[in-house]
Amino acid sequence: MRDRFGRNIEYMRISVTDRCNLRCIYCMPEEGVPCVSHSDILTYDEIRRICRIGSELGITRIKLTGGEPLVRCNLPDLVGMLNGTPGIEQVTLTTNGTLLKEKVNELVSKGLDSVNISVDTTDPVRYHEITRGGNLQDVFDGMESALVYPSLKLKVNCVPMKDMPAETYIQLALLAKDRDIDVRFIEMMPIGSGRDFTGVNGNEIYSMLTERFGRAEKCTGQFGNGPAVYVRFPGFQGKIGFISAVTHQFCSECNRIRLTSEGYLKACLQYETGADLRKLLRTGAEDGQIKQVMSRVIYEKPACHHFADPSIYEEQKFETKDMSQIGG
Ligand code: SAM
Ligand code: SF4
Repeated sequence: MRDRFGRNIEYMRISVTDRCNLRCIYCMPEEGVPCVSHSDILTYDEIRRICRIGSELGITRIKLTGGEPLVRCNLPDLVGMLNGTPGIEQVTLTTNGTLLKEKVNELVSKGLDSVNISVDTTDPVRYHEITRGGNLQDVFDGMESALVYPSLKLKVNCVPMKDMPAETYIQLALLAKDRDIDVRFIEMMPIGSGRDFTGVNGNEIYSMLTERFGRAEKCTGQFGNGPAVYVRFPGFQGKIGFISAVTHQFCSECNRIRLTSEGYLKACLQYETGADLRKLLRTGAEDGQIKQVMSRVIYEKPACHHFADPSIYEEQKFETKDMSQIGG
């Protein structure tokens, strides 16, 4: 359905857990965040019901996220359940990749369309520091095992941080040279722990990459669910993408809503406003009632975020949670 600004909302990001096996420095505090109790997290049947109702409102594509979605038991079953939901055309996943190797086969057999792997460096020592304990080889193993399935589109997501050497981004981009992988650079957003870090914008990364690879050709067309701008460097099989939510605000084209693992429907990453769908689900609400609340949240979606103007943080009710709690 369209919101009050005429934007077509067709994409829902669903967090299946607030838990994670890593502690990325810009996403989660070292000690973690207080875990939501299991009974407060939506069941797979509840998620399926929300998707079915959402599909009647025009939601066609689902991204599963977290926390780390692969730490939740039997995630492939949810992929299968959502795939079989009328109106849902695409189910995708974003993961840190550390558990992908052991689960990719089942995920693909249940119909997963695409996977995004988050990795911010190809240097094992630096990776261990950024993730506070992660083993980079697990991620590479996950990546290689995903490449075995030609039907599974693979993207790598990096959130660049100031003071990382240019070589970090060059090595990440090289993952797209001989493989059909798109490597995307996502601007750091001032959400939760991310407020303590300075990101690097897409233009700066592009300049670093052109110095090594020459001028890239801009790719035209719609790729994926979001606002990434893609280019292709000479001789590269995969594309390089830039998602610049802060410096190139794309709110006027935003097509997404978010469901937290606790069943809170959010219309915009930056604002707390939304609706508690879990309460409705667990107090016997009819489908029509849930649909009405979902359509109100969509209709009232805020016009835009104010990431670039921190001065108004004091004045408005912004989201205080970390990305892992919201579902990035
Ligand atoms: N654990 C999974 C993963 O890492 O892909 C899924 C959840 S994670 C919150 C989803 C994405 O959000 C990751 O690519 C992560 O790098 C990104 N992210 C976390 N905090 C961020 C921030 N402050 N700004 C921009 N991206 C952020
Ligand atoms: Fe976990 Fe993903 Fe956040 Fe890293 S970015 S701490 S892997 S949820």
